[in-house]
Amino acid sequence: MDICILSRSTQLYSTRSLYMAARRRGHSVTVVDHTQCTLVLEAERPAILYRGGLLPMPDAIIPRIGASVTDLGAAVIHQFDLMGVPSTTGAAALQMVRDKFRCMQVLAQVGIPMPKTLMVGTSDNLLQLVEYMGGLPVVVKQLESTHGEGVSLAFSLPELRQILDAYLYLDDRVIVQEFVAEAQGADIRALVVDGKVVASMRRQAVAGEFRSNLHRGATAVKVALSAHDKALVEEVAAAMDIAVAGVDLLPSARGALVMEVNASPGLEGIEGVTRVNVAGKIVQFLEKQLKVEGSI
Ligand code: ADP
Ligand code: MG
Repeated sequence: MDICILSRSTQLYSTRSLYMAARRRGHSVTVVDHTQCTLVLEAERPAILYRGGLLPMPDAIIPRIGASVTDLGAAVIHQFDLMGVPSTTGAAALQMVRDKFRCMQVLAQVGIPMPKTLMVGTSDNLLQLVEYMGGLPVVVKQLESTHGEGVSLAFSLPELRQILDAYLYLDDRVIVQEFVAEAQGADIRALVVDGKVVASMRRQAVAGEFRSNLHRGATAVKVALSAHDKALVEEVAAAMDIAVAGVDLLPSARGALVMEVNASPGLEGIEGVTRVNVAGKIVQFLEKQLKVEGSI
């Protein structure tokens, strides 16, 4: 197969890991920076221009689209789709997953357990909001947050008002969530490929921190999911119609709660901790879709 990885840099761990995995399985691979693509629309002849020429059509694409360029990335995936090129991540699924609240709405509708979540448009009536949440502290999240950067805890009503006002002033969409204290700074990241869990790790925040993002210094260990949690993660991926994803679970007194779905999950942490060749499994998933054999 000719595989095209959509990524802004060949130096990123996940891009390199996918590149190596595809090469090892006997495929040819190119890395295309989706932010440098020109999408050509002409009746019945869609094409992509790249670095001064027509981009030769690959057999399949593996998108690695950063959160800051979701819409552009989705347009590029759609363009490949118009040209009949399959992708490990669909454009519609990418866009839905990146809208955290829309993602939670879809999951809530099919009965997926999650922390109590509110999308707020005003900092009025906060007392009522906090009572509904079952008390302080509450978690405040900027909807576009990644790496835990837009996630904070509010311990008092004035603090909650200040955080909300700052986000609302900037026109950022913001959610308030019940703080799941029992998680004690831990969460579980499960990697799904072809709709199935292939690797999972437990992340633990550093002392004094509730955010378990590896970018926030958290540590991680390999963990085996219970049959229940595995089924839950796979149900989430199916509901989002996404074949390759990272799904984050928060342990709670009422069982695992789904916190987040990630459409371009980082591979460095999970491959390092679990020793599972996730990139290889993603390439195998493409081989299965295209009915071709890899060389190993
Ligand atoms: P991001 O997309 O920036 O990673 P998350 O929603 O994943 O944002 O939150 C970052 C981290 O904060 C999570 O990995 C988890 O450890 C912690 N966290 C998030 N929401 C809650 C919550 N409702 N209760 C307890 N901890 C939470
Ligand atoms: Mg997260």
